Amino acid sequence: MTYKILLMGPQGSGKGTQAEKLAAHLGVPAFGMGQLLRDEIASGSELGEKFDVILKRGDLVSDRDAAEMLKRRLLKPDTQNGYILDGYPRNLSQYAAFDFDTPTHVLVIDVPRDESLKRLGGRLTCRACNKVGSMDDGIKPGDRCACGGEWYQRTDDTPAAIARRLEIYENDTQPVIQKYEALVVHVDGVGSVEEVAERIKAVL
Ligand SMILES: [Zn+2]
Repeated sequence: MTYKILLMGPQGSGKGTQAEKLAAHLGVPAFGMGQLLRDEIASGSELGEKFDVILKRGDLVSDRDAAEMLKRRLLKPDTQNGYILDGYPRNLSQYAAFDFDTPTHVLVIDVPRDESLKRLGGRLTCRACNKVGSMDDGIKPGDRCACGGEWYQRTDDTPAAIARRLEIYENDTQPVIQKYEALVVHVDGVGSVEEVAERIKAVL
């Protein structure tokens, strides 16, 4: 059985965590485009050098170039039984560029808007190790992480920035999910990490 899974969900749906858990369960790699971009640049490849120049200029990598990078990544032997792609394609333009492979599942983690806002609004990041924590766990900005670094709220975790990202998901990503209609499986994302992980295993 091959699992080529596109994992979708609004910010705060916990899909990054679920991608990692599911990858371990299925024995396939999980990655997002941001990570692939950083890896490509770190590799020093020709494409990576091109991306480095574009990003340093403050521009965005084109959907075509990003798709080319993904295409190469999917040729690596660790994807022979499949992969989990976290948060891609994010809009119809990326959907059009992703024309070289067909997913087996489009897994959508549904979280109501209020819940996303609540989760993201309480999110803190460690300045030193980049670990993500939650004010629900009793930590506050200025507290110290286990590594000694300071917990802080990222500027893109402010209410206005969060609302904007949720709007982009509604406007740009929902149409992509509609395109994949026949492959879409919805999972309720409200509950503990383990509860959601179990639901995902049950629907695949
Ligand atoms: Zn830390």
